[in-house]
Amino acid sequence: MDPYRIFADIVAGRAPASKVYEDDDVFAFMDIRPFTPGHLLVIPKIPARSLAELDPAIGGKLFAVGQRLAAALRDSEVGADGVNFFLADGVTAGQEVFHVHLHVIPRTPGDGFGLRGRPTSPRRADLDYLAGSIRGALERGSAS
Ligand code: 5GP
Repeated sequence: MDPYRIFADIVAGRAPASKVYEDDDVFAFMDIRPFTPGHLLVIPKIPARSLAELDPAIGGKLFAVGQRLAAALRDSEVGADGVNFFLADGVTAGQEVFHVHLHVIPRTPGDGFGLRGRPTSPRRADLDYLAGSIRGALERGSAS
């Protein structure tokens, strides 16, 4: 099984998956190696390797389906007490399957899941400098 194509194979029914939701654009299924019980993946049916390749309208649908699934995780036997969304874009971000996917991770007290990372305390001037740089990129048309 080609790890780069596995999600396309799942959508096409060529590879097994425990489906929880499907519509014209979006497919959602159980993660095979869940961080917590009930961990779901929400993917576009048309493969996009990265956020840069993903149609923003489809990205909006991924999020909307994620919202519905979050509610279902709370109301189902999963019994989620909270939910984390996570999306890895790029190898450095931890992306392993190059077909955009939104992780929907149900949380219960003491489940052991968490993002590692230490908050820093930059000066306002540094925040303002980077904000300006990012605004500049937006104005130059990044992601438009
Ligand atoms: P990433 O690290 O790219 O954000 O996450 C990839 C996710 O896909 C992992 O959580 C991994 O467990 C899941 N995954 C990889 N291969 C399969 C598969 O064949 N079936 C299912 N259901 N999940 C998979």
